[in-house]
Amino acid sequence: MGTVKMSGIIISENNLGDYDKMLTMLTPGLGKISCVAKGARRPKSALLAGTQFLCFGEYIMYKGANTYNINSCETIEVFYNIRTDLDKLNYAVEITKIIRDVTEENQNSYKILQLFLNTLYVLSETEKNPELIISIFKLKLLCFLGFTPRITECTNCKQTQKLHFFSLKDNGFKCESCAKQDKSCLQMSESTATAIKYIVMVPAKKLYSFNLKDESLNELKLISKLYFNEKLEKEYKI
Ligand SMILES: [Zn+2]
Repeated sequence: MGTVKMSGIIISENNLGDYDKMLTMLTPGLGKISCVAKGARRPKSALLAGTQFLCFGEYIMYKGANTYNINSCETIEVFYNIRTDLDKLNYAVEITKIIRDVTEENQNSYKILQLFLNTLYVLSETEKNPELIISIFKLKLLCFLGFTPRITECTNCKQTQKLHFFSLKDNGFKCESCAKQDKSCLQMSESTATAIKYIVMVPAKKLYSFNLKDESLNELKLISKLYFNEKLEKEYKI
């Protein structure tokens, strides 16, 4: 196959032998791939910086039998502020676990990668509440995974007014009378509903341009967490 050049972000890092690293990288075109970085743990290796966890860069690689081998790399973004803040790092680690779970090899991952990079950027470079960042991230990710919530009408009776409930089971908004028949419904305020509509509709780069008051943030957090765990059939901590 020869040599390929591509951008990617390191989503896991393990030691291999005395000086090498085994990495998992998320790329736009090839999805989640395994790569070996020979000699990357030698103190003077040119691969030292670019093969760290959460480093985003341009990589030149050749394809071996089972893995890609990194020849050289050029760092684009290392998210320095995440590395120096334990709280931010913990959130980034949890976000990355989710990313590893929802991506595969040979799958176009352009949109998921963009969302991941935007999310890390906001976490790293702003003081935005990490709980809000995580909630927005999860809801948008669900849209990319085929679980876009229905937000313009009641998922049951199709009426378009007074949609103050979110149905986990039926993937979207419900009116009060339909919500009474559905135990998976969570009540939400007008501003929480507006936030969910915004998250569903805007492109990834505009996602993080709003804030929420505590009460709505708590509602959004709960809906996002329970909806995410229900659709991915897994209990995520965050
Ligand atoms: Zn209804």
